Amino acid sequence: MPRIKEHIKTSSSIGAISAGVWSHKHGDNAFEIICSILGGYVGGKVAAGWPDVIDRPTSPNHRSIGHGILPNFVLVKSQRNNFFVCLNALQKQVDDFKKNNTLQYIILAFVSKFIWGFIIGIVFGYGTHLLTDFSTDRGLPIIC
Ligand SMILES: [Zn+2]
Repeated sequence: MPRIKEHIKTSSSIGAISAGVWSHKHGDNAFEIICSILGGYVGGKVAAGWPDVIDRPTSPNHRSIGHGILPNFVLVKSQRNNFFVCLNALQKQVDDFKKNNTLQYIILAFVSKFIWGFIIGIVFGYGTHLLTDFSTDRGLPIIC
């Protein structure tokens, strides 16, 4: 079983990379990409331990619903639209102020792209935890 330090390393790295790549593919400038990477790193770090918080590693039911393939698939599938609504709303705020390179744009872009990356980091950080657990001998349960 991977330890929490390993989960934090992999989830924060994958969160940062995912947010950075997504931001770059979106056509963001260098400043916005850096803000996204920071948010993705923190989001991945925060979510790295969530599956083990839901299914306490000390209990006999470790790898229950928090690690279940089907419950997590249903959660992602059902929240997919909310995920994109959040990202698009944050992006629109940045785009509205992008034309003028004012202090207001810099602050708003930092906060918005950080949160934007944070959300991506949460999703990819949690997913990375599940993938690393899946690669162990115990694997993941289908439901719980
Ligand atoms: Zn786990």
